[in-house]
Order: sequence, then C-alpha cells, then structure tokens
Amino acid sequence: MLRCDFCGADTDTVKRVAIDKGYDRLTVRHEKRYACRYCSEKKEKERQERLKAASTEGGKA
Ligand SMILES: [Zn+2]
Repeated sequence: MLRCDFCGADTDTVKRVAIDKGYDRLTVRHEKRYACRYCSEKKEKERQERLKAASTEGGKA
C-alpha cells in the first residue's frame, strides 16, 4: 500500500508527480511525489491553469 504525499490517503493507485519549476528550485530539487488519482488530477489541472496563465500574461513567472 502506498500513500499519497498530498492528502495522505492510502491508495494502491498512485502516480508519480514531478513538481515542476513553478516551485522554488533552490529548495525543491525536482522532487518526485506520489499522488493518488484525485490529487494527480488536481495537480494536473493546476499545472494546466498555470501554463494557461503564463501564456496569457506573456510568460511572466
Ligand atoms: Zn491524494
């Protein structure tokens, strides 16, 4: 049994989620986390939103 690193739920269907550069690269060295299905979907959505926001704002960090 694995555990989701985001919500702490026990699950046997985790996905590896690579935390990308939106985070502080000095403290988070391309960290890999395990996320349950719910959290991985949520993360994916957040990522899409971030990409969308970045492209509409002209690539502002
Ligand atoms: Zn979770």
